[in-house]
Amino acid sequence: MAEPRVLFCASEMTPFAKTGGLADVAGALPPALKRIGVDVHCVLPLYGVIDRNACGIAPAGKGFTVKLDIGQENFTLHRADREGVPVHLLECDHLFDRGGLYGEKSCDYPDNCRRFALFSLACLELADYLGLDPDIVHVHDWQTALIPVYMRTRRRSRARSLLTIHNLAFQGIFPPGEYHWTGLDWSLFDWQKLEYYGKVNFLKGGIVYADAVSTVSPAYAREIRRTESGCGLEGVLVEKGDRLCGILNGIDPRDWDPATDVHLPARFSAGDLAGKQACRALLMKEAGLAPTPHPLLGTVGRLTEQKGLDILLPALATLLGEGCPFVILGTGDAAYEAELRKLARLFPGRLGLFLAFDNRLAHLIEAGCDMFVMPSRFEPCGLNQFYSMRYGAVPIVRATGGLADSVAPWTPGDPRAGTGFAFSEYTPAALLAACREAIAVFADKDAWLALMRNGMQQDVGWSRSAENYRALYRSLVESGELMP
Ligand code: ADP
Repeated sequence: MAEPRVLFCASEMTPFAKTGGLADVAGALPPALKRIGVDVHCVLPLYGVIDRNACGIAPAGKGFTVKLDIGQENFTLHRADREGVPVHLLECDHLFDRGGLYGEKSCDYPDNCRRFALFSLACLELADYLGLDPDIVHVHDWQTALIPVYMRTRRRSRARSLLTIHNLAFQGIFPPGEYHWTGLDWSLFDWQKLEYYGKVNFLKGGIVYADAVSTVSPAYAREIRRTESGCGLEGVLVEKGDRLCGILNGIDPRDWDPATDVHLPARFSAGDLAGKQACRALLMKEAGLAPTPHPLLGTVGRLTEQKGLDILLPALATLLGEGCPFVILGTGDAAYEAELRKLARLFPGRLGLFLAFDNRLAHLIEAGCDMFVMPSRFEPCGLNQFYSMRYGAVPIVRATGGLADSVAPWTPGDPRAGTGFAFSEYTPAALLAACREAIAVFADKDAWLALMRNGMQQDVGWSRSAENYRALYRSLVESGELMP
């Protein structure tokens, strides 16, 4: 069959604009799809924070007007290229020329409902304006989740829609007084469609109206059907049946490869691990850690409950007390930062603490650590476990979401089988037991080397994911009926 034509609509995309993992997916997946022959066009708001020159963005025409009953907006066209994929950037300064993407100083912009409803409509307008005639419109998270709704209500599109959920915790919930900005009929403000406890919920609308919904790992796709993990949307997710699936993310080996990494003092690979020692030595020095025979543990990420900080803190105190060195890089909740500062004062030379966002240091921690700890409460996919496997920092993870799908637990007696250590129960004791198991295996150098090499040789690039998305696109094109 002919390759499907795809319109890929996202609110962030590397290298243009990023607040989280969605940007990495939107930056890497379209080029990977293009490499296997899929015809993809991307659409993105032209935010004020985007560096137009650095990103090679050029004006591409006067554009079009999006009309709603309560007003209209003009969108001017700009264009860039991402490894052969056209990226259309829609300019509308009073909506997007601001200091942030969704808000500033932890405060959302008060007109986000209007901003992203209009952007969603503009994506479909763009497809008509350029005559793209897509077979698939692939949208991401709440910011573009109204697109499937518009496709079935305002516009009668022939294309199929796929909504990918990168984190169900963010849904785009607004007071009913904002609903008029969607331009949608009030008959859709219904508990089976867009209404959610008296408010309008963009993500819920997208789930109901999309022809298919995907998440970023198969395990997370199963977990979010349950009350404990469904963030209030488990009902509509269950209704999706086999139209809800999970496709694991990949990583970009051009940014994350210890054999070529420009952020490291020395490079290394599964075949030649010598450079890892130099990385470890530099990391120990920068973190102010005293020499030790113990393995070096570390973690990088947001210091929030999602990332398991409430179970990490007690386990960390015990490990440090037993002489284990640990490095932490992250920013997040003030209370967790304060607890970590206290531990760093209690254990000088043992806990290296960096309360910052620092990409070079994130690379050095992956390269210099023996083990990388990710005790997440929930994890749609996660990226750091892929990086740590690739960099020979054996992951110790809670078996949830993408962590469960990507880390194969070590099996005693069969070192070739595993890539890390996993625990299930969300408790400090379970985390501690997994760390102790890893530390015990570390003492067996042959087993440890086998574990490291298993992880380093995993195929974690984007091509596998791109094949899965293409298969999903094809099945949608071939399926007869449309939602809902
Ligand atoms: P999230 O839920 O935050 O998206 P992921 O593991 O999917 O978690 O991705 C987070 C990304 O951000 C990783 O590439 C990680 O290395 C990076 N990161 C997080 N915190 C920091 C930090 N303080 N400094 C540098 N990089 C960070």
